[in-house]
Formats: sequence, structure tokens, C-alpha cells
Amino acid sequence: MFRSMLLASIALAAATPALAETQAIIVGNLISDAATGPTGPAVILVENGRIKEIAKGTTNPFQADSVVDLSTKTLVPGFIDLHVHLTGDPGGDFRDEAVDPDEWGVVMGVKNAALTVKAGFTTVREAGSAQNTAFVLRRGTAEGKIVGPRIVAAGPALSIVGGHGDVTGFRKDVLAALETGYTCTGPVECAEKVRKASRLGADVIKITATGGVLSQQGRGLEAHFTDAEMKSIADTAHSLGLKVMAHAHGARGIEAAAAAGIDTIDHGTFADEAALKVMKAKGTVLVPTLMALEGVRARIGKGIYTPTVEVKARQALEAAGRQVTRAKAMGVTVAFGTDAGVFEHGSNGSEFALLVKAGLTPAEALASATTVAAKTLGMENEIGRIAVGYSADLVAVSENPLTNITTLEKPSWVMVRGRIVP
Ligand SMILES: [Zn+2]
Repeated sequence: MFRSMLLASIALAAATPALAETQAIIVGNLISDAATGPTGPAVILVENGRIKEIAKGTTNPFQADSVVDLSTKTLVPGFIDLHVHLTGDPGGDFRDEAVDPDEWGVVMGVKNAALTVKAGFTTVREAGSAQNTAFVLRRGTAEGKIVGPRIVAAGPALSIVGGHGDVTGFRKDVLAALETGYTCTGPVECAEKVRKASRLGADVIKITATGGVLSQQGRGLEAHFTDAEMKSIADTAHSLGLKVMAHAHGARGIEAAAAAGIDTIDHGTFADEAALKVMKAKGTVLVPTLMALEGVRARIGKGIYTPTVEVKARQALEAAGRQVTRAKAMGVTVAFGTDAGVFEHGSNGSEFALLVKAGLTPAEALASATTVAAKTLGMENEIGRIAVGYSADLVAVSENPLTNITTLEKPSWVMVRGRIVP
């Protein structure tokens, strides 16, 4: 135990470059917590990547090594996106999958990590990628080698054979070459795949609980795993201290995933009253990813998608946004996620206005991407608020977002882990 703690602290020290110098950030209006709203001018002292002190008022009481003047801006906590795919861009031919090496995903990821953090997203949950791509990006942003958000990474998604997270649409020998190694059949094999993902370095287990819109699998959008398989996945992950995020569209698939103990339902497109009732009872969080369908809306009917995908896309578009309205009415927690990669990275902030349009108040929308998302990750003592001891993840915007939510789409200044984003 001691040895592993020692190793962990050495790793942490190596991962944190010298940021010993202090920074004082003068802000015109501080929103330290979405629930409390703006509290007027303040000065934030940052040291070693963390918030050391906060002083109210316009005068700077700190002897800092450098001063950042944001006295005309509103400062909010860095945003958290619980569903992104950094290693890919939207559009493209599905057959690219058989051509591009995994390493190409790292190149895309470096580009997209920078776009994401510049948009104010200082933490993302990477919702599925090739074997190691998201893990090396996670290390790259943590060590400051590349510009990007803190990354909580799933790695490869668990799927049924021929499911949304598997590869379909190719000839048999090509499928064999593209095998992810993370399909499973039956509770025992599914438990084994959770442990393999954990061994590889997953921070969270991603499963594709139902069919998905943009894969070539032609078995619709309903449940894929059996109840026993999903329960095995949830129990095994929880025994390892990991949460499970489930891609899910169909109502019965959502209900079954929530009943099995899955922690978040991502997309949740066709969530009906019965499904939301189980989510409410089990404390399952909805991550609606409304921007994903905007990405689909922009591309449908243009010959970009195959006929298999077009059918599923039309079904999903018909239901867009309703799950948020229903979830709020039934008291189900809604946390922020976008599915960036299905639409252009860096536009993640447009989800805020969509959430408000679907019925959240601006304060609830901001909370969904800060305090609520932090709690969903189990990181509520680290991120999601501007408070002493928290990571210095800060975003400056031009207006009060509680009166104009779209100001969150264009941050004027971002800091992640005490580093100013260039
Ligand atoms: Zn996704």
C-alpha cells in the first residue's frame, strides 16, 4: 500500500510542472457556483495549479508574481463535457476506419483537445476511442505537453458482437482485422472485459447499451446487452471503483441499463416515463448530448450517411430534446455532455442554449456543466466550483450567463490547472 502510494506521489510530482509562481486574477463579476449566481468583483490567487485564496472587491490584496486583469469580465468555473470523442472529426466515410491507423487518432486528438479547452471545457470525459489513444492524450494534457482539458478516459467501449461499439459493414476478413477486443457475450465474459479495460487504464467503463445512430449496425436503436450482462458490467466496474457510462437511445434499453445499476445514460433519446422512473429511483444521471443530433441534422439527406444510418438518424431526430424536458419534470439529474466529434470540436458550448430551450433554467444549464457534472465524475471536491483548494479551472466570459446563456459559447480567457490557455 505504502509503496503504491509512494509511486503515485512520484508520478504526480513528475506530472506537475513547476507552477510555483503565484497569479492574481482580477475579475469584474464572480460566479463561484452556478447555484449561488454572481457575487460581484473579486480577486483569485492561484498557486501550484490550485485556487489558494479568494478576496471580494476590486482591490488586489495579494503579492502575486503575475496579475491577470479580467475586470470587465464574468468569471465562471471551467466547464465539464461528459461525452466527447477527441480522436475523430464528424462526417467522413465509414470505410476510413479500415484505412486510418490508430495513431492518426492521436493527431486528431491533439488538435481537438486544444479546440475543446479554448471553448472553456477544462475537463472532458472521453467516451470511447481506440486502444490507447485517449490514454496518451490524457497524459499529454496532464503533463502540459499538449494544450487541452483534463481527460477522464474510457478507452474502448464494451459492446455486443455486431453492436454499436463493434465494427460492422465490412467483409468478414476486414472485420477480423478491426476487432476491438472489447465485445462480450454473457455475464462472465463481460466482467472480464471490464477488468481488461481497467487494467489498460480506463477511468470509466463505456458500454453501448443499445443500437447507435452512426454505426453501420442495422438492428435499430433498442437494447443490445441482456439484463444479466449489464448487471455484471455494473457490479464488476463498481467493485473496481469505476463508474459506467452507457450509450443508450431506445426506452427499454435505457430502463434496463438503469435497473442494472449503470451510472449515466448518455443520449437517452427515447427515454419515456417508465425509463425515467427507474432512472429516478436508481439515481441514474442523464447526459443528453443534444448537440449530437444537431450534427446529424446538418448532414442527413446529403449522401454522407449510408441508408442504414439514414433510417436511424431520422428516428432519433424526430425525438430530439424531449428527454430533457421529461427528465426535468420527473426529477432526474441532467448532466452536461455533447458527443463532440459527431459535430465540430470546439462548438461544445452550443449545448447550453439547447438545454435552456429544452426547459432548464440558465443556472441549471451552467450547473449541469460544472457542479452536477463534477459530482457525476465523483470529482466534486476538485472541479466544478471556484473555491479554495480546487483546481484552477477558470473561464472568463463577456456577460452574465444567467441573463444571456449564449455568452458561454465564446469565452474570452481560459485557465486549466493553473495554466493560461494560449
Ligand atoms: Zn458518443
